[in-house]
Amino acid sequence: MSNTNATKHSFQAEVKQVLDIVAHSIYKDRDIFLRELVSNASDALEKMRYTKLTEKEVFEPERELEITITPDEKAGTIEIADTGIGMTRDELVENLGTIAHSGTKAFLQKIKENGGGNENLIGQFGVGFFSAFMVADEVKFYTRSWKPEGESLCWTSDGNGEYTIETVDEALTRGSRLVVKLKDEYKDFSKKDKVKEVLERYSRYIAFPLNLAGEKLNTMQAIWLKSKSEVTEQEYKDFYKMHCHAWDEPLDWLHFSADAPLAINAILFFPTHNPEAMGFGRATPEVTLHCRKVLIDSEPKNLLPDWLRFMKGVVDSADLPLNISRETLQDSALIQKINRVLTKRVIKHLEEKAKKSPDDYAKFWKDFGNFLREGIATDEENRDILAPLFRCESSILDAGKLTSLPEYVERMKDSQKEIYYLVGANRESIEAGPYLEAFKSRGIEVLFLYDGTDDYVLNRLSTFKEKSIVSADAADIDLGDAPQTGTGEALPEDKMKSLCEWFQKVLGKEKVAECGAGARLVDSPAVALNQDKFMSASMRRVMRMMTRDSSGLSDTPVAVKVELNPRHTLIHQLDAMRDNNPELAQLVAEQIYDNTLVAAGLLENPRGMTKRIYTILEKLSGNTPAAK
Ligand code: ADP
Ligand code: MG
Repeated sequence: MSNTNATKHSFQAEVKQVLDIVAHSIYKDRDIFLRELVSNASDALEKMRYTKLTEKEVFEPERELEITITPDEKAGTIEIADTGIGMTRDELVENLGTIAHSGTKAFLQKIKENGGGNENLIGQFGVGFFSAFMVADEVKFYTRSWKPEGESLCWTSDGNGEYTIETVDEALTRGSRLVVKLKDEYKDFSKKDKVKEVLERYSRYIAFPLNLAGEKLNTMQAIWLKSKSEVTEQEYKDFYKMHCHAWDEPLDWLHFSADAPLAINAILFFPTHNPEAMGFGRATPEVTLHCRKVLIDSEPKNLLPDWLRFMKGVVDSADLPLNISRETLQDSALIQKINRVLTKRVIKHLEEKAKKSPDDYAKFWKDFGNFLREGIATDEENRDILAPLFRCESSILDAGKLTSLPEYVERMKDSQKEIYYLVGANRESIEAGPYLEAFKSRGIEVLFLYDGTDDYVLNRLSTFKEKSIVSADAADIDLGDAPQTGTGEALPEDKMKSLCEWFQKVLGKEKVAECGAGARLVDSPAVALNQDKFMSASMRRVMRMMTRDSSGLSDTPVAVKVELNPRHTLIHQLDAMRDNNPELAQLVAEQIYDNTLVAAGLLENPRGMTKRIYTILEKLSGNTPAAK
């Protein structure tokens, strides 16, 4: 080998960081480096199998696809060789000089968040190729690309910031051969027994012949093609980590096969951790697509709807044409069909899970509910079957207990025509507000939403089992005659009518679009109702925000319907005050209006309110002799 043509390169800054962490960690499971390198060899072989199907001209097309591992105790090295796609000079720089692997990115991010304490993280995330430097003094990566014009190359690094690439004199066969020169403490990995033990743990699913020092180790094990009863729980978990590059345990999985409308064998995993919850940004699905074990696409587009992007796993369809290009594949009717089958299966699986273990499902809803919410809001085709998976609290259940729409409908009385909900920051604020009492006094259940998205989601849904889903603060809800409980005598109808007219005149039509006696009110003196039945207060808040002026506050009045409670003492007093003390009556009317807006969450500019309250207080205390 000549050294004259060696070119020197520096690692990308992020790679340096990873190498530094890897080299200085006292991580105990150092053997994962072997898992990573064998996985890479296997990936390179899968890609080769595919490349052979799609490319006309391939270097050494007849060479068998296999992995050969050679521990060498004397030399203190371990070699991992594959006959896969190999790499060109540019690919070496791109793939081994920068961080391309998303798991490694996630790893770095997590390290930054943790500010140290990286021990378990390497094992959890896997840092791919770079994990070799946990055990190596030096790594040599000999490689020859499948491309006819490829060169025989050697990439060398001791993991200290730089690497070299040179052409080697001997003509290499296709693929890659890694020579890992082991650190003294890790010379164990140059012993066959030790390596065999590690390989048997990790390489079970390598779908290529695996040779260890002259011994053939395993045959392929595509567990997704087996029947459920033949696969152990441990095998699923190992597969999840190996195949899906996952660093957590799977929460759950579904393994199924279907014949119609097309042949599918699939295992889909639900991760334990929401991949978007830790600030890692948008998740990308880790579901690979195969045809009779052959990898067709490791990142197939449109295989799952967007809202299922947190899923991981494998899908195999014998009906896929092998040599289809990715571009035609992602728009093909076949992919759409598979997508449909998978989506329905996942939804059915979740529904069964919810029935069988509601508590587990409630936890899932808490962690992954946002994906399902997104599904209900955006996936029109599946909206109806997704809706029963929605969960929220309700007025008739204990705090913390969740209910579903089917359960709600089941509990509805015959006379109830619509599904009601209220939005608020929390249970207390909804219960203290003026909207619930009318429903409560009539024994009508109201769903409680604490999340602006829930409001949006139910709006998109708009009906469930042919029942409109309506915000309970809407004006035109007919709750029928109510048993008026625990309140005093009502003001006579004519008096009420004139009081309401007066109230509207005092406030103006642009604030009070309508004013009437409130049939719904029990304990509150007044309530502001929403003119648009299908738009809740929180939606209106959003609309208002869009019309804000430059001060950031909107002074534009909100036109609402105000209902006054004919039985409430304050309303009685207000009626009397109109004659006795018109000035105070006006202030009180304005204050009542503002209060209803506060309760509705619609008062944006409280500037005038404090001043008015002081004036009212002054006027009231003026009626009482001051203390001496
Ligand atoms: P990942 O395998 O998740 O992409 P790695 O850090 O393990 O990340 O590997 C980085 C890249 O280096 C791979 O994506 C691949 O392109 C390339 N690579 C690594 N090992 C091999 C190999 N044996 N043959 C061909 N390419 C390889
Ligand atoms: Mg890898």
